[in-house]
Amino acid sequence: MDFQLVLDQINTELRPLLGTGGKVASYIPALARVSPLQFGIALRTCAGETAQAGDSAVPFSIQSMSKVFSLTLAIKALDEALWSRIGREPSGSPFNSLVQLETERGVPRNPFINAGAIAVADRLVSQADALPQLLRLLSGLCGEAVHVDAEVARSEADTGYRNAALANFMKGFGTLDNDVATVLDVYFHQCAIAMTCEQVACAAGYLCRDGQHPLAGPTVISATQTRRINALMLTCGTYDAAGEFAFRIGLPCKSGVGGGIVAVVPDRLTLCVWSPALDATGNSWLGRQALELFVAKTGLSVF
Ligand code: GLN
Repeated sequence: MDFQLVLDQINTELRPLLGTGGKVASYIPALARVSPLQFGIALRTCAGETAQAGDSAVPFSIQSMSKVFSLTLAIKALDEALWSRIGREPSGSPFNSLVQLETERGVPRNPFINAGAIAVADRLVSQADALPQLLRLLSGLCGEAVHVDAEVARSEADTGYRNAALANFMKGFGTLDNDVATVLDVYFHQCAIAMTCEQVACAAGYLCRDGQHPLAGPTVISATQTRRINALMLTCGTYDAAGEFAFRIGLPCKSGVGGGIVAVVPDRLTLCVWSPALDATGNSWLGRQALELFVAKTGLSVF
C-alpha cells in the first residue's frame, strides 16, 4: 500500500476545511493561543516505513495522549496491582467529570479520564523520578530528545482547578498515596510535553508490535500488557466519544485537547493526526475526520 499517497490525499482533501469547524481548547490559556489552521498526519509501520503530510513536523502539546505513556510505565512497574484503585470501564462522561467519583467512592472509571490519569501519576510518584522517567521513555521511543513546554505547564497549573478538585476528592477517599501538589505537578507537566506527529507515530510504535520497542531499544511491555492498553484506548481513549470513534473508525485511539490523536493498527502501524480545533467532546474535529478517511481509504481497522 502506498501510505505516502494516502496521507497526501487526506491532507489535500481536509486542508480546505481548516477554520470551518471546531474550537481550540480555551480553558488552558496557553493552548487558546495556538492557531487552529494547522493539520498534520504521520505514520510509521511495523517495518519502519514512514509517511507524513501537512504540519507533521510541528511540535504541539500532547496533553492526554501522554496518558498512554504514563499508563505504560505504571503497568510495567505494577502490572495487575495497578488496578486495585483504578477501573477499566468507559466513563460515558466528559474527561474532566467529577460526578462518577462520588458514587464510585473515589475510584476513577479508567486510566484515561483525568481522574484516572492523576491516579496513575500518583503511582508513578511512588516509584520516584516520575517525570524524568516519562521523558526518558518518550525520547528513547522516538529517538529524539522530548521536552516539556514550560509555558503550557505553568498555564495548566494556574488554571487547573478541576484537576485539583479531582485530585483532592480522590485523596479524601484514599485513592492517592502521595501529596496532592506533587502528583498534580507531574500530571500538569506530562500534559505539557510537546511532540510532533512524526515523533508520536514513532513513539507509540510498541503498541502495534506486541510491546517491542519501535527502534533498537529494549522490550517496552509484554504482549499481554500491550493488548490491554490497546483495549483501553479503544473503549476509553476518546472519552464520551469512544463509542462513536469505535463505530466510525474502529481503531484504538487516544486523543488530547492539544488536538492530537494517536491511533494503532495492531501488527501494521501507528498513526498520529493533529489539528488543534476540537469538537464538543474535546477530540480533534479534523483529526477524527482524517482517521475516518484513513480507514475508508486503506480498509485498515481492527474490525
Ligand atoms: N491537561 C488537560 C486537562 O487536564 C488534559 C485533558 C485532555 O487532553 N483531554 O484538562
